[in-house]
Amino acid sequence: METDFEIIVIGSGPGGYTAAIRAAQLGYKTAIVEKYNTLGGTCTNVGCIPSKALLDSTEHYHRALATFNHHGIQLSELSIDFTQLIDRKEKVVRQNTSGLAYLMKKNNIQVITGLACFQNNKRIKVTADNKSENILTSKYFIIATGSKPATISGVDIDKKRIISSTEALALRTKPDSMVIIGGGVIGVEMASIFARIGVKVTIIEYMDSLIPTMDRELGKELKKILTKTGVSVFLNHSVQQAINTTNQVVVQHLDTTGTLYESKADYCLVAVGRKSYTQGLGVENTRIELDEKGRIKTDKQLRTTEENIYAIGDVIQGPMLAHKAEEDGVFVVETINGQKPHLNYLLLPNVVYTWPEVASVGYTEEELKNKNLPYRAGRFPFAASGRARAAMETDGFVKVLSEPKYGELLGVHIIGPRAADLIAQPVVGMHYEVTDEDMFRICYAHPTYAEAIKEACLVASGQGAINL
Ligand code: FAD
Ligand code: NAD
Repeated sequence: METDFEIIVIGSGPGGYTAAIRAAQLGYKTAIVEKYNTLGGTCTNVGCIPSKALLDSTEHYHRALATFNHHGIQLSELSIDFTQLIDRKEKVVRQNTSGLAYLMKKNNIQVITGLACFQNNKRIKVTADNKSENILTSKYFIIATGSKPATISGVDIDKKRIISSTEALALRTKPDSMVIIGGGVIGVEMASIFARIGVKVTIIEYMDSLIPTMDRELGKELKKILTKTGVSVFLNHSVQQAINTTNQVVVQHLDTTGTLYESKADYCLVAVGRKSYTQGLGVENTRIELDEKGRIKTDKQLRTTEENIYAIGDVIQGPMLAHKAEEDGVFVVETINGQKPHLNYLLLPNVVYTWPEVASVGYTEEELKNKNLPYRAGRFPFAASGRARAAMETDGFVKVLSEPKYGELLGVHIIGPRAADLIAQPVVGMHYEVTDEDMFRICYAHPTYAEAIKEACLVASGQGAINL
């Protein structure tokens, strides 16, 4: 086994594997160290991929149950095979992790399994499960060790009845009920998965809105939609404690008047954010510094306080998203390579895979107000879209925020059918600083959901929509 490299990447999530592949493409002698036996990190094993697999399965079921009859399709018997649902999800995960193993081989990247611990800024010790150790040296290191679920005081994730998304995605029997603490992205995606198959879901959110970091109108609309699916939502409630009583969990929460509520369920899913992960990494043996939230401190080049060590993805500041980790990874390798790559976190799309989906890019209306930036807003509801009416997908809207003088797009926020894919066009537009007029002067196929973007741009520009 080789032990000396030009670039060693620690962690094989979307940040790590993308960085390793880019490094190998640029001709660096590259290794990737991963403590688990499968590659892919949180995203592939216990995050994006398994959650989307279950979201897809449960969406099929929900459509068959709730909407097929409107199309004249009658089903006499419909049932859910929960074991098959979970088995299919696991197969999808295996396909992805083995795909990554193939990509490492194809790109001649050495994969080393074990926990990487810095001995100094040029050397790591990798300890495998069987306690065997390897010492590796490298000119550069890229830390991509990701994040783990966080919790709040009074709530101990015991992994039995009080669980994180990792355990929720691996339940082998369908629960009857679930209380979810946190109405952020994980909270609403998990609520969708379980509520669609008949689990009684309650979300308890501390803030006054679901998905509170996104444009507020999106959270308001999503609450209406989730409530229709049977999800109970408590906003402005602060959780005091969660008690595992062996057969169920009791969650105590207070509203703003100080009234105490108790929500009981088979499981309590804790989805109150994630914290950067550096346990066992040996940063104390280097000059690497952490910030007050335990994230690795970096400069604008994503270089840590050790000159030859960079850090990317969930373990540093910025949104905790797979595509952000990937962007960071490519950016760092190209920086090491002497290129002049570019990063702009404002233009990272943000997607929530509920149905309908939620997607946005750029500034929210609240951010523009807080920054005192002038803007004009254009809104177009899917209820006025021919395509949406044909598909009976009329919930939601597109909201476009643009700069009032020249019309440059400042933010686009969508809740509606296929929002996750629709957002790609505004992302391209905003990268090239297009205006709302540029956006409506191009031709959109009819009938498509994308026409709603054109109409919202027409409204934002002041010209006025055609179909509203
Ligand atoms: P990770 O993917 O966390 O990978 C870090 C890797 O480093 C892990 O494999 C870990 O074992 C390894 N590691 C840690 N320490 C060491 C060490 N000392 N030595 C060796 N290896 C080590 N994001 C999206 O963009 N879209 C989504 O749809 C989405 N869905 C999600 C759903 C869920 C349920 C969750 C939990 C997250 C989701 N995310 C999603 C977020 C996304 O998973 C993360 O932002 C992304 O995985 C971060 O990538 P990363 O490379 O920084 O770290
Ligand atoms: P999050 O930050 O999105 O949401 C956490 C929520 O918990 C917030 O709404 C917050 O107000 C609430 N909260 C905090 N303390 C609380 C308390 N004491 N009581 C009640 N509510 C409380 O975090 P998450 O949903 O755990 O997701 C973690 C990360 O994973 C996020 O950064 C997210 O970007 C990423 N993720 C992304 C996707 C996606 O891109 N589709 C999907 C899942 C996860």
